[in-house]
Amino acid sequence: SSQQFDVAVIGAGAAGMMCAAVAGQRGRSVVLIDHATRLAEKIRISGGGRCNFTNAGAGPQHYLSQNPHFCRSALSRYTPQDFIGLVKRHRIGFHEKHKGQLFCDDSAEDIIAMLKAECDAGHVAWRMPCSVAQVGKSGDLFRIDTSAGEILASSVVIATGGLSIPKIGATDFAYRIAKQFGLKVVETRPGLVPLTFDGRGWEPFVDLAGIALQVEVETGAKKERGYFLEDLLFTHRGLSGPAILQISSFWQLSTPLTLNLLPGVDLAEALIAGKGTIKKSLGNILAQWLPSRLAEGWLKVNGFDTGARIADMPDKALRQLGDSLNRWVVLPSGSEGYRKAEVTLGGIDTRELSQQSMMAAKVPGLHFIGEATDVTGWLGGYNFQWAWASGVAAGSAV
Ligand code: FAD
Repeated sequence: SSQQFDVAVIGAGAAGMMCAAVAGQRGRSVVLIDHATRLAEKIRISGGGRCNFTNAGAGPQHYLSQNPHFCRSALSRYTPQDFIGLVKRHRIGFHEKHKGQLFCDDSAEDIIAMLKAECDAGHVAWRMPCSVAQVGKSGDLFRIDTSAGEILASSVVIATGGLSIPKIGATDFAYRIAKQFGLKVVETRPGLVPLTFDGRGWEPFVDLAGIALQVEVETGAKKERGYFLEDLLFTHRGLSGPAILQISSFWQLSTPLTLNLLPGVDLAEALIAGKGTIKKSLGNILAQWLPSRLAEGWLKVNGFDTGARIADMPDKALRQLGDSLNRWVVLPSGSEGYRKAEVTLGGIDTRELSQQSMMAAKVPGLHFIGEATDVTGWLGGYNFQWAWASGVAAGSAV
């Protein structure tokens, strides 16, 4: 005995719940299917448990995609202000942390409860935990073979997210369905992820683990260029912190990163100009600008004596030291992978989808939303804003 709905949404995460709520509240009969035992685990762990649920300034320029204009339509039809309005209607306290990033005052659970309540208001039916073995189409109807029986639906929305954090249930389901229906998938790779350095080259820097400071970081050229002014964190295996997570989405294997550990200071110029007047030791001079452990470690790694007086040093050596901090060029060997990545770059090729409805042009009734699509936000609430906006776009169209 099969059950029939207007809409079946597969994946009850951020995008799926938003989509189901909107479709349900428009009067569509909706079923929401998820294989997890706990609801919306990724929202729960997001933003350190406080969910950075949007960014007040989110716009298309904050997203990476092979088809960069695709996200514009959905983002302009459902804006950060729209989501903030929803959060306020549910009386959830929030605050701005940094560069427009909005977080819950209490807990990410508040966002999950809000989305659940919005689904209830749309009389959404749940199948959870419930696994999906197969999705087929016969005539105008989709047939979904699940562990809770066969489900028939006129529209299917795939909202199963990307590959990040397999431990909490991420799967390649969306990509498999796309391929089954003949849709292109842009190659996937981990994004917003710490970068690592194999081998002996990194050994001298291991002692710097734990040090954090604001840096400029850049990579790539022209259209592919990424640039950020954010905090860097030295780790035992490599580099992390917001600066590195951000640049990791732009970084390509065998391409270097250039870091400026002293933004706003031309160190070589300052040292050479100070030769006649500054009496302090090299270590003390650097410690004016850098964490003292980094100042000392850096001099050691680069073969300088912390006690040296700059008056006694040739300009060439001061220039070398200045360059080493103002233009530190590093070549990461890899990343911490999907185990640690906050997002998945790539996904369903958006050239296959309608920007109005997120529906596949080749397969009427089949929609893809959220992280499963080739739209990836920067760090800072942008990924959830895409989940909400693409969820609303599909939910309004099905
Ligand atoms: P998800 O929220 O991942 O939901 C997918 C759902 O599909 C899950 O419930 C899963 O169980 C289900 N599913 C998967 N495969 C199957 C299958 N085969 N069958 C049935 N169900 C399936 N973004 C921000 O904007 N702000 C943040 O603060 C933030 N913090 C983050 C912190 C961490 C540690 C991580 C990993 C990510 C963070 N992100 C953040 C990114 C953000 O969580 C995702 O971009 C967002 O959740 C994507 O929404 P989605 O609905 O597309 O997918």
